Amino acid sequence: MIREAGAVLLVSCYELGHQPLATAQAAAFLRRAGFHPAQLDLAQGILTPAVARRAEVIVFSVPMHTALRVGVEAAEVAKELHPGVEIGFFGHYAWLNREYLLDGIADWVLAGESEEALVARLTGGAVPQEPVLRRLDFPVPFREGLPSLDHYVTLEHGDRSVPAGYVQGSRGCLHLCRHCPIPPVYDGRFFAIPVETVLADIRAQVAAGAGHITFGDPDFLNGPGHARKLAQALHREFPDVTFDFTAKVEHLLKHRALLPELVNAGALFVVSAVESLSDTVLEHLEKGHVRADVFEALRLTREAGLTLRPSLVAFTPWTTLDDYVDLVEFVVAQGLIWHIDPIQLTIRLLIPPGSGLLERQAIRPFLGPLEPGRLGYRWTHPDPRVDALCATVTKLMEQGNSEGAEPEVIVERIRSAAVTIRDGNPVSPRPTTPSVVPVPRLSESWFCCAEPAPEQLVTLR
Ligand code: SF4
Repeated sequence: MIREAGAVLLVSCYELGHQPLATAQAAAFLRRAGFHPAQLDLAQGILTPAVARRAEVIVFSVPMHTALRVGVEAAEVAKELHPGVEIGFFGHYAWLNREYLLDGIADWVLAGESEEALVARLTGGAVPQEPVLRRLDFPVPFREGLPSLDHYVTLEHGDRSVPAGYVQGSRGCLHLCRHCPIPPVYDGRFFAIPVETVLADIRAQVAAGAGHITFGDPDFLNGPGHARKLAQALHREFPDVTFDFTAKVEHLLKHRALLPELVNAGALFVVSAVESLSDTVLEHLEKGHVRADVFEALRLTREAGLTLRPSLVAFTPWTTLDDYVDLVEFVVAQGLIWHIDPIQLTIRLLIPPGSGLLERQAIRPFLGPLEPGRLGYRWTHPDPRVDALCATVTKLMEQGNSEGAEPEVIVERIRSAAVTIRDGNPVSPRPTTPSVVPVPRLSESWFCCAEPAPEQLVTLR
């Protein structure tokens, strides 16, 4: 029965606008083991009574905080529609929040390299009590039955607008940044997926219309040799297909010689978790880079012809008003307004249960209670003006978006509000000259380790 079509339902909760990869990977492992799972993407459809009742087991994929919030709600609906159905969760945020999930929401939680453990569970095996950290034999992700690529994120670059495919060349990460959800699961390890497997998935997505590929590895340059092989293989077979990837500042510096090679193979932009320009904040987050490195990364990527798209954690307990003004002025002075979605300037540090930050004494004075409904700890800045600024810039973002204001205008409003709050004197926004800079970007943003609230997602440009 459990092997029949639809008896296992794999539910993707949110993958930042991409066609789901995590459920497609799980589906491939299950099909190889003789199962016929159905896949549902909650970003594109709803859980219907017929689908819920056909399922014996419903497995929610929650790689991100927003996905977990969506998944928890959907699990409640599933239980109403089909009392007694077995509910499982997998993904980084499932692991961080496992106590909460296992207290009445889920029957089990898996994390790490978990697909073979999922197969084992569905054939009556025990659920591992730790994240699975061993090399798997990866099949090609199974994407049949998912909504077509034209329902998903596109690459926007000047006049070019093409569907963007999404693959991973590796999972996990070698690094241990304190605020990131990956180290508590992967503990400084990463696992490469064979080039041929990734290329076969790219091939399928290009055949389905993708003109651009996002390498969704937590950090593409954890394995620079593997990254080079992937980029070369992609370019050899599809010379017109472009790509983007994510890499930390430290890696952009360390692997600087590789950047022009990646550009020649079709790399258009790199997302990099700059997070902050404050060395104090960077040290608390154990990011592995300092302020000066950000300027160097900017120089190196410009020299290579690679657009740098920084992601930020604009508000942390250690961010001062001066730091914030400095960050906004950096964005303006470096001509990065179109490189950074303005919503990045509103992002507040997320502290989920299981966060590495909780092990640091330095976070304790600011930490409030765990708010299970929000799936994270409340924290308060020691300077109430900073929390007030966070609320103000969030409102300015929402207002600017509802007016359809240009990013230059929104960022200038944010800058003047920050200076006003810092100096205690009203400062009016300076006049701005709207410009459209053809910086390559995806039609939906990527947030490395901090996320906006779901209600903020509608404000993404
Ligand atoms: S923030 Fe990036 S580099 Fe740091 S642990 Fe997470 S994925 Fe790795």
